[in-house]
Amino acid sequence: MISGPSGAGKSSIVREVLARTDAFFSVSVTTRPPRPGEVDGSDYRFVDRPTFEKMIADGQLLEWAEVFGQYYGTPAEPVLQALAAGRTVILQIDVQGGRQVHRKMPQAAFVWVRPPGDAELRRRLTGRGTESPEALRRRLQTAQQENRAAKASGVYTHIVINDELNRAVQQVVEILTREQNPI
Ligand code: ADP
Ligand code: 5GP
Repeated sequence: MISGPSGAGKSSIVREVLARTDAFFSVSVTTRPPRPGEVDGSDYRFVDRPTFEKMIADGQLLEWAEVFGQYYGTPAEPVLQALAAGRTVILQIDVQGGRQVHRKMPQAAFVWVRPPGDAELRRRLTGRGTESPEALRRRLQTAQQENRAAKASGVYTHIVINDELNRAVQQVVEILTREQNPI
C-alpha cells in the first residue's frame, strides 16, 4: 500500500518499482476525468458515477473512498487473484482506503510517501501541470490534513521521503523484499 499527499511522487515511485520487480499494480476505478497521457485500463479504469455506484452496490470493491470530490476504488477480484498466484500487489490509494485495507489485510506493508517539504510539494504539483488552479489549491490545502490523518490512523509503519527519486524507489523495493522474506 502506497499513500501520500497528491504530488508527493507516488505514481513516479510506483512506475519505477513496477519496472524493477514483478509486482502487480492494482488499477483503481475512478470517476475523475483522465489527465492527458493517462491510459484507460492501465492508469485507472475511468467510469461514470452510476457505474461506480453499481460496483459499490454489487460488492465489487475491496475499498473505496471519495477524494477531491470524485470516487476512487479498488476492484477486489484482480487483487485477490494476484495474491492467490503469489504476486506482490501494489495499491496506490488514499488514507481512507488505507484504513479499510488495514482492517481487511493488516499483514500488508503500509508506506507513506512524503515530499521533502511544502514548497517542493507545491513546485511538483504546479510543475506537473495537470490540475486547474482550483484543484491545485485544494490538493495543497489537503496535504497537511492527509499527513495528520495518516499519523492518526496508526496504519503507516513505513515512511519514505521522496527527495531523490531513485533513493525513494530503492527504499520501497527494500520494504517489499523485507516484507516478503521477513527472516
Ligand atoms: P503523485 O502520484 O503522488 O500525485 P507524481 O508521481 O505525479 O505524484 O509526482 C508529482 C510531480 O513531481 C511529477 O511531475 C513528477 O515528475 C515529479 N516528481 C516526482 N518525484 C520527484 C522527485 N523525487 N524529484 C523531483 N520531482 C519529482
Ligand atoms: P489522483 O487524482 O491524483 O490520481 O489521485 C488522488 C488520490 O486518490 C491519491 O491520494 C490516490 O492515491 C487516491 N486513490 C487512487 N486510487 C484510489 C483507490 O482505488 N482508492 C482510494 N481510496 N484512493 C485512491
